[in-house]
Formats: sequence, structure tokens, C-alpha cells
Amino acid sequence: MTERVILLNPGPVTLSDRVRAALTEGDWCHREPEYAALTRANNAALAQVYPDMAADFDAVTLTGSGTSAVEAMLASFAPDDRDTLVLTNGVYGERMAAMLRAHGKPHRVIERDWQAPLDADELQTELNANSNISCVATVHHETTTGRLNDLHTIGAMCKSHGRQLLLDAVSSFGAEQIDAAAWNLAAVAATANKCLHGVPGLSFVLARKKLWNITPPDRGSVYLDLHAYHRGQYADGFSPFTQAVQVAFALREALAELDEAGGWQARGDLYRARAQRIHATLDELGIGTLLPPTAYSSVLWTYQLPEGDTYARVHGALKDAGFVIYAGQGALSPQVFRIAHMGDIRDDDLDRLCSALRNVFGAAR
Ligand SMILES: *Cc1c(COP(=O)(O)O)cnc(C)c1O
Repeated sequence: MTERVILLNPGPVTLSDRVRAALTEGDWCHREPEYAALTRANNAALAQVYPDMAADFDAVTLTGSGTSAVEAMLASFAPDDRDTLVLTNGVYGERMAAMLRAHGKPHRVIERDWQAPLDADELQTELNANSNISCVATVHHETTTGRLNDLHTIGAMCKSHGRQLLLDAVSSFGAEQIDAAAWNLAAVAATANKCLHGVPGLSFVLARKKLWNITPPDRGSVYLDLHAYHRGQYADGFSPFTQAVQVAFALREALAELDEAGGWQARGDLYRARAQRIHATLDELGIGTLLPPTAYSSVLWTYQLPEGDTYARVHGALKDAGFVIYAGQGALSPQVFRIAHMGDIRDDDLDRLCSALRNVFGAAR
């Protein structure tokens, strides 16, 4: 028996035994009716994760990591003749701007510091001043820091100004609230292997049904053309390119587990309980958070390394104890570490984690 390793990085996650077992279900061809049925069932279940969205949104799945879904969403739905306004406060928002640049799509960016909230005031000003903006693109949970961006404010502005919201919810879909109607949500991109607890390899985009019928004049991508996926998956159930068949088995199981466990609200509650437990332990040890705790998502929190300590030491000591944490990105990397709360983490895993944290940080003081 290998020792149980718990992943506390923001995806991939520690799999449940049930999801892992689904991987060996069979050698299937992705162009046979049984796989078409699985694709349709997974797409329907993805649209049901937020029951309010099921009637108005169609999901498509593609083979690729979360980034491929975000890029496909922008390539397929950000217009070529009007501006997309990108709000950034971290790596993933900045990545959305880089994608629009790479696809030659007209866009503007309101950039904030990684530790700051999104700039709702400037958004309001831009939306009032600039009628050429048709879409707003941003990140729901900015995994760079753990901040849950205030989509209630941003989304309400999109709605009141009649602008479409294109959302990266890669690290929030399945655990945080998404209010499609109030936010004027046009499309949302996410992945199998974060809050849904599946295996990496499949990602997906949910978009309003009416958007799938409008083919953009100039398709900027072949692999990432979501309209082609939609035409295939909603006609005969087939995709334009080879799908990750075994990953789809695991996704079906993961979605069933999510549903049986009480859906996204219950999953968010579970993550929040884990976050509180870890935070209480670290707080006792004098380890501070990077952002005020109320700014964080349920999914991931960022903590400050103690003065004079290094990420390499902390990571190494925790890995020896069976836990994989995550480094900070960019300028934050010497200062912080991140702990995500996703995946099959059991109560006794949490007990072991808290004692490992006491060993690691108690000894340093
Ligand atoms: C993880 C993540 C992505 C995509 O990452 P991949 O490595 O491509 O799966 C995109 N946006 C956010 C907010 C993320 O957390």
C-alpha cells in the first residue's frame, strides 16, 4: 500500500475511490453510440449543477485543461467587431486579456493589483462612456490569491447596462454561487478536475442556448471553435476531435457524487469548514493570511510565510508528511503559500494535516 497523499493544490484533486475506479470502465471508441450517450448525459448533468441555469444554457465538453475552455469561450463568443472589457486582479484575468490579444479580438483592460478587489467604479465609468463594449470578461474566483471576486456587483452592472458577462469559473464552478440571471451571464468556462472532483483532461463551457445559434462571422480557431462542438454534441452526440473517454467516465461519477452530496451549496459548506479548521490552526501558530479572511473563496486561501522561512522548506516538510501545498505566483512567490480545500479530504486527513502544520511551523518559531 502506498501512503495516502493529499493534494492541497488548486487542481488536480485527490480522487475519491469511486471516481478513480470509473477510469477503468472500458476501452470505448469516442464515435460509438454509447459514448455519444455519455457525452449527452455529462453535458446535461453539467447544466444541472446550477439548476436555475438548466433551462437556458447548453454545456459542451472539450478535451483540454481549464485554460482551453476559457480560451474557447473567448474565441467563440467575444465579438470581432466590438470591444470586450476585461477586469483583472491576478494571473487568470491577465490570461484572459492575453487570449483576446492572441486571437486579435478588440478589447480593453481594467487592471488591478493582485491583492486588490476588481475596480467596480471604473467598470461603471467605462460602461457609461463606451457604447462599443459588448462583453465583460472576468474571473469568478481568482486563484492567484484566493479572492472571490464580487460578481454580485460586477454582474449587476453588466445586467443594468445590457452587457454580456463571459466568466472564468474554472476554480469555483461546483462550489460557489453563480447567479446567471442577475449577472447577465452569457457563458461560463470550467473544468472537470477542480470543484467537481473529476480527473484532468476534460473542460467545458456553458453558454445561453440562443448564443449557440449565432455563428460568429470570423472563426479564429479550429480546435477551440465551440460552435462545432455544439453542432456535433447536440446532433449525433459526437465531437469534432477525439475526446478523453476515460476522463468522461470519471466526470460522470464525480457529477453523481456531487449531486448525492447535496450539490454546490453543500460542497461550498464543506470547503468552508475545511478552510476554517486550517485557518484556526495556522492562526494559532502565528501564520497570517495574505488577504482579509472575508475576501476569500471557500476553495483556496493564501497564507504568508513567516519572516525568514522559505516555501521550499515548508513545502518539503509537508510533502514528507503526505500533503502537497502550492506556491505563490509571480512577485508573491517568495512571500506566500496556498492551500486549496478541494477533493476527497477525510476528517482524519484534516487531523493529520493540522498536526503536520503544527510540526512544520511550531519548530520554526
Ligand atoms: C486552474 C485555473 C485555470 C485553468 O488552469 P488549467 O491549468 O488550464 O486547468 C483558469 N482559471 C482559473 C481561475 C483557475 O484556477
